[in-house]
Amino acid sequence: MSAAALAALVRERQPCVVLTGAGISTESGIPDFRSDTGIWAEIDPFEVASIQAFRRDPERVWSFYRQRIHALLEAEPNDGHRALAELERRGFVGAIVTQNIDTLHSRAGSREVVEVHGSIRSAECLRCLWREELAGLLLRLEEPGPPDCPHCGEPLKPGVTLFGELLPTEALERATHLARSAGLVLVVGSSLEVWPVAGLPLEARALAIVNRGPTALDDRALLKIDGGSSETLAALVAELG
Ligand SMILES: [Zn+2]
Repeated sequence: MSAAALAALVRERQPCVVLTGAGISTESGIPDFRSDTGIWAEIDPFEVASIQAFRRDPERVWSFYRQRIHALLEAEPNDGHRALAELERRGFVGAIVTQNIDTLHSRAGSREVVEVHGSIRSAECLRCLWREELAGLLLRLEEPGPPDCPHCGEPLKPGVTLFGELLPTEALERATHLARSAGLVLVVGSSLEVWPVAGLPLEARALAIVNRGPTALDDRALLKIDGGSSETLAALVAELG
């Protein structure tokens, strides 16, 4: 019943832009870092994943991200990622804005993906702005110490937005434009607590939410489905036929 109601909204309120958070990737074995069992329950993010830590001790940050990049690359897209890629192919979804850095949407076949917290697909030099793509980065990560910029020798920074950093301007502007021009923003797997991304749904004309547990904007949504993303999105694809 609720998937049918969601399908009706997606049909009637085009274009649909989807905003995803950690909840869509938990079924790929990637724990939500903000949950009680997530990695930040054991590790202080400001010690290993903040811009201050990176400036102070890049190797400490890289010893964390080296592991994390490999773990995320081993994860596979799940039915939720695949359902969204299918909905894009069929013209029901115009774009995905994601808080996730795991690249699973692209690997599931989605094409219009805006990664507002960056991603593991590259690393960058803060001095000369050189960008090292993933293949080259993985080679550099096999050597001890932080990977260095091939042009100026500065340690490269992970392509992920670190704590204490501003979000990538271009991605955030594109996400804001998408939300403003959307007929419907469909939030999947986010409790909408991390700003400024949590404010994006407020830019939209209509809002629907699929999330296990409450979100900060439940009372603003036309429809809220308290359920898992794989199951719900697969049902949505079936409803849309
Ligand atoms: Zn450089």
